Amino acid sequence: MEVDAEVLVPRAQAQPVGGAFAESAADALVAEARRRRASHIHLETGPAGCVIRLRIAGQLTEPRHHPLDEALAATLRAAPGVSVLALGQGERIVLRLDGGERRERALEAIGMSRGLIDALLPALRRGGLVLVAGPEGSGRSTTIATLLGHFAGSPRHIAAIGTLPVDGVTRIEGLAGAAAVRAALEQDPDVIALDRLDGREAAAAAAEAAEEGHLVLAAIDAPDAVSAIRRMRDWRVEPFRLASTIAATLAQRLVRRLCPDCRRPVQANGSVSALLGFDSGAIVYAPVGCESCEGSGFAGQTGVFEAIVADGAIRRLINDGGDEAILARHAFLRAPNLGSAARALVREGLTTPDEAVRISRG
Ligand SMILES: [Zn+2]
Repeated sequence: MEVDAEVLVPRAQAQPVGGAFAESAADALVAEARRRRASHIHLETGPAGCVIRLRIAGQLTEPRHHPLDEALAATLRAAPGVSVLALGQGERIVLRLDGGERRERALEAIGMSRGLIDALLPALRRGGLVLVAGPEGSGRSTTIATLLGHFAGSPRHIAAIGTLPVDGVTRIEGLAGAAAVRAALEQDPDVIALDRLDGREAAAAAAEAAEEGHLVLAAIDAPDAVSAIRRMRDWRVEPFRLASTIAATLAQRLVRRLCPDCRRPVQANGSVSALLGFDSGAIVYAPVGCESCEGSGFAGQTGVFEAIVADGAIRRLINDGGDEAILARHAFLRAPNLGSAARALVREGLTTPDEAVRISRG
């Protein structure tokens, strides 16, 4: 189906769309397309304005007319997976969303919520330092590999240090810490990934690489997201450098996922309810055991996440050496911390109260 050039309405007649066409028009459009499960965004530009349509369930939606938004067109034009065709005095920009959707499903599969993915991906696209905290065996490497997978298919050069389970990257072998980061930088990568920040020199090298414009993903031994920032401070990464380079700090744990075929609703017992802050008599789920879970009552594991995505206030707090309690309060005002993320999984019946209690004890 083609849209005739006449459909393009003059700028003066076009309907302004309140707020949506502010500076983040592209983000808003992609978010809308994703929410509506569109496979493609079509943007046709012309001297008079632009027309937006989405392909949803195989059908193009009715054209929406807007004043020409050059910033929106430029952002879409630069997106990976885009196709641009000259069209009279304008162009047709078609952005395919399938691939991105598929990769985001990989992030959901390791336990990231929609809200976390939506907050994290724009931060990753801007570059900077991304720390993934947790004890060993908490799934940090899988998370870093899955985040790297998000860039698979886009023309980015990834250098990986250590034993990250990811293909199609430049591997830096036989070196560790700061020397490995320097060797990675010599390979001129867009992205550097480290399976573990192991000390002050590696931390400094990672922060410097991020400062130079690389996206740097690194696992760090710290129990939670605020502690990861403290660890960087302890390693004497300068506050201004940490504040200006940090993109996000994640922390995670793994909990056992209840088998969906046999889990059984039960009333939470009093002491567990008290520990988790549930109302007495709250309904939770218990493992039973069936054929599909080989009698265990569980089916694999899922990540529980908290994230501090850097905004202006977080950067100011880090730069000023702000108190950790204030940092945590600001970061988790609207986003869940590890404890509340685990409680949400219990309420959804994805895991048991015992698993949530276990991770809340470290
Ligand atoms: Zn089962």
